[in-house]
Amino acid sequence: SSSHHGWKRVLLKLSGEAFAGGDALGIDPAVVQHIAEAVAEVVREGVQVAVVCGGGNMFRGAQMSAQGMDRARSDYMGMLGTVINCLALQDFLEKLGLDTRVQTAITMGQVAEPYIPRRAIRHLEKGRVVIFGAGLGQPFFSTDTAAAQRALEIGADAVLKGTQVDGVYDADPKKNPDAFRFDRLEYGEVLQRGLKVMDATAISLCMDNGLPIVVFDLMGQGNIVRAVRGEKIGTLVSP
Ligand code: UDP
Repeated sequence: SSSHHGWKRVLLKLSGEAFAGGDALGIDPAVVQHIAEAVAEVVREGVQVAVVCGGGNMFRGAQMSAQGMDRARSDYMGMLGTVINCLALQDFLEKLGLDTRVQTAITMGQVAEPYIPRRAIRHLEKGRVVIFGAGLGQPFFSTDTAAAQRALEIGADAVLKGTQVDGVYDADPKKNPDAFRFDRLEYGEVLQRGLKVMDATAISLCMDNGLPIVVFDLMGQGNIVRAVRGEKIGTLVSP
């Protein structure tokens, strides 16, 4: 029952923890290489790929503000961390011969373009991979919400959330061996049951605009390519 084939433009959301591989912090080059190779494969098949990088491997604003730091300031630190992941991914993609642009929601002209949606779309149409950094540029939001917003603004067909779990479960599969994995979900059920897909702001945005979300295990062999091709993988959240 996978009727979501034929995506021409996708928004790939990469969680920050994924970049760290087995470690808690930093960037594992093997992970970035894995992602870059998969993105190269689908871009060469003609799919337009935009990416939003998370930053959990660098810095999470909420954690630091729980230690007494001002929330907005620590969120800005979190947003800056996402840009480090973007630059790493950009480098690995370009080594594979792809054209790329990083666009950030916080202006930093020496390292990236500012976020200009119409220019991002032009890049995609030319086969360039556009990597969005610094989330939405606003404290109190998440990179998941940025992924939903960017996907909507650039007209992506779906948000593909690559993470460290192979889909959405009704309980934590690491703690509960009987946890049930959903193949399909509706937005309302995600919100009502508080399922860990994306935060409520991101889910609401997708729900209000009928934007499909695929949650899948980023590191599984061939998974990124399968997700982009719209093959049955992980959990599909859709109208
Ligand atoms: N962040 C923010 N506004 C945004 C996006 C991100 O303030 O629009 C901050 C926030 O502090 C967050 C951090 O950046 O904790 C890293 O992003 P996130 O936690 O979403 O990364 P992920 O969970 O994907 O690794």
